[in-house]
Amino acid sequence: MRILITNDDGVYARGLWALAEALQPLGEVIVVAPDREQSGVGTSVTLHHPVRASAVTPQIPGIETYAVEGTPADSVILGLRTLTRDVDMLFSGINEGANLGNDALISGTVGGALQGFFHGLPSTALSVTTLEVSHFEVAANLGLLLGDMVLRKLIPRDILLNVNVPNKPISEIDAMEITKLGRRSYVDIIDEGHDGKRKYYWIVRGKPTWDVVEGTDIWAVRNGRISITPLHDDLTNRAQTSILQDQRAPMMDALRQGTSQSSR
Ligand code: MN
Repeated sequence: MRILITNDDGVYARGLWALAEALQPLGEVIVVAPDREQSGVGTSVTLHHPVRASAVTPQIPGIETYAVEGTPADSVILGLRTLTRDVDMLFSGINEGANLGNDALISGTVGGALQGFFHGLPSTALSVTTLEVSHFEVAANLGLLLGDMVLRKLIPRDILLNVNVPNKPISEIDAMEITKLGRRSYVDIIDEGHDGKRKYYWIVRGKPTWDVVEGTDIWAVRNGRISITPLHDDLTNRAQTSILQDQRAPMMDALRQGTSQSSR
C-alpha cells in the first residue's frame, strides 16, 4: 500500500507533516508537494515551461520527499507518472484554511486531490477551517480513518472527498455532517498602484458573502462540525440542458442566416 501526499501550502507546511505522520500505519507514505505556497491555483497544470523536482530532506525520517517547482496538480502528475510508482491512494493537505463551497474550484488543495481522482485513485482533500491551525490531529486521524475505510471497502475506491475540520480538539467537536458544496461568493477588491514603470493591480479577496443553507459544507463549518463533501468531476448542469436543447435548432438557423450579427 503506497500513499501519495501533496498540498498547496508547500512541502514544508506543518499540516502536510501532521498528515504524513498519521497515515504511516496505512502503508508507505511518499510526499510530492510544491516547493512554495500555491494556494488558490486550483487545478492548474504548468505547460509553458519545464517543471523541476528535487529530492529533499523529509521532516519525518524515511519518508521519500520531493519538492516540485510547480502546482499541486504538477506534483501529483510527476509523483504518479515518474517520481514513484504503484500509488494506491492520494491525500492533499492538511490545508491551513477552509476550502468551502465555490472555493473548491480555485482551491489548490482540492486541485491536487482532483488530479489524483483523474488518475483513478481514491483522493481526499483535507483542510482545517482556520488560517493559523493549532489542531491538525482530528483531520489527520480522519485521513487515516478514511484511508482504512477504502481498504476495507466500506466506501468505494472512486471517491473524491473534500473534508473540512474545525480547529478544535475532538472533545470540542459535536458532530460530523455529510454535506454538499455551499455558495460562498467574494466581492474581489482591486488595489491599483504604480511601481514607477508600470501600473499594477492587486486582486484582494474581499469579505465573503456566505450562503448558510442547511446541509451545505458552509453550514456545517459555521456550526463547528466536521464537513465531508463527496465530489465528482462532472460540472454539467442537467437542469439547463433541456432549456438549451429547445434553443438548439433556432441557434443553428440564426447562425446559418447570419441574423445573429446583423440584428445587433
Ligand atoms: Mn493552502
